Amino acid sequence: MLILVTNDDGIRAPGINALATRLEALGRVVVVAPDRERSAAGHSLTLHSPLRAELLVTDRYAVDGTPTDCVNLGIHGLLPRRPDLVVSGINHGSNLGDDMTYSGTVAAAFEATLMGVPSLAVSLQITPGIDVDFSRAADVAALLAGEVLAHTLPADTFLNINVPPGDPLGLRLTRQGKRLYSDVVVEKLDPRGRKYYWLGGGDPGFENTEGTDFNAVAEGFVSVTPLHLDLTNYRSFERLHSWGLEKMFTGYRRQGAGDE
Ligand code: MN
Repeated sequence: MLILVTNDDGIRAPGINALATRLEALGRVVVVAPDRERSAAGHSLTLHSPLRAELLVTDRYAVDGTPTDCVNLGIHGLLPRRPDLVVSGINHGSNLGDDMTYSGTVAAAFEATLMGVPSLAVSLQITPGIDVDFSRAADVAALLAGEVLAHTLPADTFLNINVPPGDPLGLRLTRQGKRLYSDVVVEKLDPRGRKYYWLGGGDPGFENTEGTDFNAVAEGFVSVTPLHLDLTNYRSFERLHSWGLEKMFTGYRRQGAGDE
């Protein structure tokens, strides 16, 4: 087995080292990860500047790009062949609900799935006052990586895994939950008297609904959410069809043509 490991916290983060070490039980692990913290990089891709990959030690590459760059470069450039699996994490902090689209950790798994390589994203919830210990999350990641290799994932699907702090009480298959943002932008003055702003300053809440990723982690369970690449909201079609947009646009085109 050949496993590509990446993250968005940077190659020196303790989470990725715990993950890579644990996954070595399953096969050869090649780490291709950002050379610095790239959290909240989302699915961004570097297209207008060169990328450099520094080989730190055998099978450990630090890249001056985003997590998505790392997966791209890993699969198409640095690895000796297509990997059997991509694992992203272990992120310092959970990636739940709506926050997933900001996440570089989740985007890396997304990218692997776009390239047809099975993948998982793994994040550890950080709770103030409880020691950050990646070893349990690494166990969970290795267990689920083994299952993915044994069963193969449904098409176009990857797993977003969130691990609660401490000893998990169990594992739940969940759906994506909903954040409640506090919409706080902090405005301050810099030492030269100019305004600056800080996003995400407030403590966001979440809808604690049964069956969601938020709820599982809040109750001390490992959350496993199958995500797919199709963002279409199928339930919205009926209502949007009722607007008559397609017909309206046909009429608009005819009018436009008459004007010429
Ligand atoms: Mn991160």
